[in-house]
Amino acid sequence: MKRKILITGGAGFLGSHLCDLFIKKDYRVVCVDNLITGTKKNIKHLLKESRFEFIKHDVTKYMAIKGRIDYVLHFASPASPIDYLKFPIKTLKVGSLGTHNALGLAKAKRAKFLLASTSEVYGDPKVHPQKESYWGHVNTIGPRGVYDEAKRFAEAITMAYHRTHKIDAKIARIFNTYGERMRLNDGRAIPAFIGQALKGRALTVFGKGTQTRSFCYIDDLVSGLDRLMKSKINTPINLGNPNEMDIKKLAALIIEITGSKSKLSYKPLPTDDPKVRQPDIALARKVLRWKPEVGLEKGLARTIDWFQKGLS
Ligand code: NAD
Ligand code: UDP
Repeated sequence: MKRKILITGGAGFLGSHLCDLFIKKDYRVVCVDNLITGTKKNIKHLLKESRFEFIKHDVTKYMAIKGRIDYVLHFASPASPIDYLKFPIKTLKVGSLGTHNALGLAKAKRAKFLLASTSEVYGDPKVHPQKESYWGHVNTIGPRGVYDEAKRFAEAITMAYHRTHKIDAKIARIFNTYGERMRLNDGRAIPAFIGQALKGRALTVFGKGTQTRSFCYIDDLVSGLDRLMKSKINTPINLGNPNEMDIKKLAALIIEITGSKSKLSYKPLPTDDPKVRQPDIALARKVLRWKPEVGLEKGLARTIDWFQKGLS
């Protein structure tokens, strides 16, 4: 019998790359998505595959799935600041009710569980780089709180199911990841800057652009998640690329790689925008024997190439 994996949010950016990976690895894949921020285009090439099934469903509602499931990967959630500010209550519901349903399904099927958590659980961090042992600095009632607190609740309920129901649960704290299949207009820095550079428009740098992020290419993240799923670890683990840079430098690099004549245009800094972010990945290196392999220039060149094809 082939192993069967259910991926919530499977029609989104990260989820669709996971669907690809597990189809390639000969699993049966069930993709559950309500398409609120994802698109069927991301999984179109898989729909003809007999081992792939798409179910349009909102995971905040009870999920009735027949037959065996070996793994539940819970990736459903709006993820870009624009998306979760547009859908604040849906974001809170998918992190809370959606995670509860996904865990309930894993419990009923005796499946392994993996939660897509985020570096946002560290908020605007006072500890730098961020280690898993840091509890974070989050404004619960600020606009970003809907995402951050939903994910913090999701981590709490995941650990409670692990302790109470002995679910083999993993928690990936994913740091900024980019690559093919992001939406040009999802508002995240990399697709926003690429779109602006390719169209010859000014790149919208928020604040002074001195805030930092550390960007991980999609293929590296997917390989880290694959290792995590097979590992024995049940406590949160950071997955990301420690290569930190400020946002102004990222904008300049995208202008350089695209060969664009665009300039920078400074806009107000969004509320509670973290000033720094860099993963400490010592734990992932040790227990997963994983580290990112694709440098930013190479990853950006591939991503830009993909966006360029979509625009032409
Ligand atoms: P995305 O918006 O492309 O994908 C999210 C998917 O979840 C979409 O297809 C959306 O339609 C689906 N979804 C949302 N609410 C749903 C619901 N109630 N029921 C069913 N489906 C629902 O975003 P992404 O970047 O692929 O992020 C995927 C996951 O990874 C999210 O949980 C996000 O918090 C997490 N994450 C992503 C990053 C990143 O850099 N991309 C970083 C940290 C964490
Ligand atoms: N950012 C920016 N211009 C944009 C989009 C984002 O300067 O058009 C900044 C944003 O304020 C943040 C960083 O880039 O400091 C990363 O933003 P993104 O939305 O990609 O991720 P997150 O804030 O969730 O880390």
